[in-house]
Amino acid sequence: MGVIRVRGVTVYYGSFKALNTVDVEVEAGEVLALIGPNGSGKTTLLKTMCGILNPKLGAVYLDGKEVHRIPKMELSKIIGYAPQRLEVNFAMPVLDFVLTGRRAYASWDYSREDYNISLKALKMLRADHLITRRLDQLSGGELQRVVIARALASEPKVLLLDEPTSSLDPKHQIEILETLRSLSRNFSTTVIMSLHDLTHAYRYADKTLILKDGQVFAAGRTSDVIREDILEPVYGVKLKVL
Ligand code: ADP
Repeated sequence: MGVIRVRGVTVYYGSFKALNTVDVEVEAGEVLALIGPNGSGKTTLLKTMCGILNPKLGAVYLDGKEVHRIPKMELSKIIGYAPQRLEVNFAMPVLDFVLTGRRAYASWDYSREDYNISLKALKMLRADHLITRRLDQLSGGELQRVVIARALASEPKVLLLDEPTSSLDPKHQIEILETLRSLSRNFSTTVIMSLHDLTHAYRYADKTLILKDGQVFAAGRTSDVIREDILEPVYGVKLKVL
C-alpha cells in the first residue's frame, strides 16, 4: 500500500473546479514528478496532499490515515512542503527560519539536535554559508534552497516540492535533484515534485503524473509517460525530451 494515496480528489476555488477526481499512489522511497502546463493543477494537488487545501470530494491518505484527521504538529513531522515561493519575504534570520522546520519536535526551546539537523539540511542544499543572512537579503535561488532546507529539517517521510529548481542555475538544479534522489534511495523518503523541465523529470523521477485542466492525463512509470506522442496534446507543441 502506498505511503501516500490520493483518491478521487476534487478541489474547487469558489465555483472553479481546479482538480477533478484525481487518483495517485506513491510508495516509500519513490520519486514522483508532477508535470503539466501552467494552471493544470500541480500546486493545488501539492497543497491538497499536505492538508493546506481541503478536497470537496475524495481524500488524501498518509499511511492509511486521512490527512485532514492527522493533528497539524504530527503531520508536519511526516510531510515537508517546500512552496515555490514564500507569501512574504520577511526579515527573519535564515537559521531561525530553517529551525521552524523543527517546531513539531521542539518541546519548549530548540535543542542542540534541532540546530544540528537544521545546519545539516542547509549543507545538503549548499546553503550553509547563508546562515548569518536574513531571508529578505537572499537572491531568488538562495531563498529557494533555504525553503527546501526548512522542509528537509523536519526529516519528513514525504517531501513535497513545488518547482524546486525554478529559480536555480543549472549546477544548483542538478545538485538539488541529486540530493532529493539520494534521500529517496538512502532514507526511503518519498519525493513528490512539480517540474517544468521534462528532461529533469525523465532523469530523476521513477513515476510521472501528467495533469491537464485539473485531470490526470497520463500516469505511470516515467519512461512510459514522458513520450513525445503523449506530451504533444498536453502542451500543444511538439517537444523533444532528451
Ligand atoms: P499549476 O501549479 O499547474 O500552474 P495551480 O494549481 O496553481 O496550477 O492552478 C490551477 C488552477 O486553479 C488555475 O486555473 C489557477 O488559476 C486556479 N487557481 C489557483 N489558485 C487559485 C485561487 N486561490 N483562487 C482561484 N483560482 C485559483
